[in-house]
Amino acid sequence: MIIGILREQNGEKRVSILPEQAEALVKNGNTLWVEAGAGDAAFAADALYLQKQVSVEPRDKILQQANVLLVYGAIPESSLQLIKEGTVLIGTYQPLFQYQLMKKWADQKLTTFSLDMIPRTTRAQSMDVLSSQANIAGYKAVLLAANLFPRYFPMFMTAAGSIAPAKVLILGAGVAGLQAIATAKRLGAVVEVSDTRPAVKEEVMSLGAKFIEVEGAADASKAGGYAVEQSDEFKQKQQARLTESVAKADIIIATAQLQGNKAPLLITEVMLQQMKPGSVVIDLAASTGGNVFGVKNNETILLHGVTLVGNSQLAADMPWDASKLYGKNVLNFLQLIIDKTGNLQLNFEDDLVKGCCITHDGAITHTRIAELIEQQ
Ligand code: NAD
Repeated sequence: MIIGILREQNGEKRVSILPEQAEALVKNGNTLWVEAGAGDAAFAADALYLQKQVSVEPRDKILQQANVLLVYGAIPESSLQLIKEGTVLIGTYQPLFQYQLMKKWADQKLTTFSLDMIPRTTRAQSMDVLSSQANIAGYKAVLLAANLFPRYFPMFMTAAGSIAPAKVLILGAGVAGLQAIATAKRLGAVVEVSDTRPAVKEEVMSLGAKFIEVEGAADASKAGGYAVEQSDEFKQKQQARLTESVAKADIIIATAQLQGNKAPLLITEVMLQQMKPGSVVIDLAASTGGNVFGVKNNETILLHGVTLVGNSQLAADMPWDASKLYGKNVLNFLQLIIDKTGNLQLNFEDDLVKGCCITHDGAITHTRIAELIEQQ
């Protein structure tokens, strides 16, 4: 079977599989092709792939002949025309937002596995791209904030005067939020955290941060670990409680998400105006609307004296490790769908295979995506 690694478009710096990970697939009897320069931005040169028996081939040939195409982001329309029916695409395609695109891929009879849809179960952990990338994003968000902040993070007592520690407020204690807490603590900040899932309180406290208690959150126990939309009453209580913390905060790292929906707006303009000039907000939820008033996706702006950064792709700014972890996720998933003799075995009885399969055999196979298309 031929597995093709495509060069990403639109400035994406990650590559789907690094040379050492590709080697495992070659040893398993597969033929691996890589498009020239696919790994350059992740510091994996063509020569390194060649050393692992991965041959460098023209893009069109890979698109036309590979049985499996590995590409992190969506394939441009012009390239799509070259792909033959039945080809398997593996990547991170955000189908809950890109369902029209998924419809096109289904019509073209492609089999699409979007790893951002893999169920968040223990068995899926080694393939969980949302976790591997969110962990990096949470870390990077704090480093970026520290860089933009015109003050220290840690407390200092010096002969020239004392420095108070920075106060960091983290919205959302999922994978990114927890890593942001740990990173901010390592830099010496004082950290407060808000989340609607009471289950995270202990994790937050074990990292040395303070959990902001707000009673009456909606029950999310049937949402596969994800948060759910809150009642207006809860939102008002949370906002009142957050207003105090926002006014004190020097840094806000916003990570609160509602799977497949617009992110909750947690910081209003009035709250933002209470922040000290020079404060910094990093909003990782910017691509779905953001948690903070005024945030613009993929932009850094100054509003009411506060630097607002909207960036939902911060993991891509650490392309070496982001590719290493993402590539391992992809490799683990491939090992689930390729047998020991190098043939595709798509077992749709397996909840992981079924859970992240979006299109197959000319149809949208994922119920939630199919519903979204029907509602259009
Ligand atoms: P996410 O990116 O969907 O959301 C980030 C955080 O924002 C979540 O903790 C969420 O509760 C919080 N949030 C949502 N609305 C909020 C609001 N209005 N105010 C404050 N906070 C709000 O989360 P994620 O990091 O992708 O994690 C989602 C779930 O998946 C978690 O329960 C996590 O423990 C679970 N998970 C499971 C596995 C596994 O077992 N394989 C792996 C990773 C994560």
